[in-house]
Amino acid sequence: MSAAIYPGSFDPITNGHCDIIRRIQPIFGEITLLLAKSPKKRPLFTVEERIALAEEALEGVPGIRIAAHDGLTVDYLRKTGVRVIVRGLRAVSDFEYELVMANMNKKLSPGVETMLVFASPEYYYVSSNTVKEVAMHGGSVKDFVPPGVAKALEAKFESR
Ligand code: ADP
Repeated sequence: MSAAIYPGSFDPITNGHCDIIRRIQPIFGEITLLLAKSPKKRPLFTVEERIALAEEALEGVPGIRIAAHDGLTVDYLRKTGVRVIVRGLRAVSDFEYELVMANMNKKLSPGVETMLVFASPEYYYVSSNTVKEVAMHGGSVKDFVPPGVAKALEAKFESR
């Protein structure tokens, strides 16, 4: 079995991300959730908070590693010898970005393959951004994120 990397901001991790991970883990055996530090995106949660939330959300799922990285995903792949990037595809609007990224990564590192996995129907409208928006305005996010993330979002916006 070969390992795969699932890169993203995970600011914060949602049920959509967890669903993809649970579905692909049995196929690849080992999945590294590669958290992009993305300071330019001005994330709501710090790297440490995002890691802790992901660890809690994925507790009990075998073969999961969580790492943070600040640079090109292909550089991380080169370093670890992993050749597969997995990304989730929700609406058609995701497609163009994913196509560009997959081709750019292939150009930068020809041995790398990007594999796209369709979002499950119940999560195709869930994104970290919409969840943050709902939580910011006091709406319930319990159907979209793991319980620990819902609590962390509530605390984050209460303290603002
Ligand atoms: P980005 O930082 O590129 O916006 P995210 O960190 O939000 O990406 O997500 C990482 C990956 O997970 C992306 O491939 C994204 O399309 C995918 N993803 C996000 N939300 C969902 C979802 N609800 N269902 C399936 N895939 C998703």
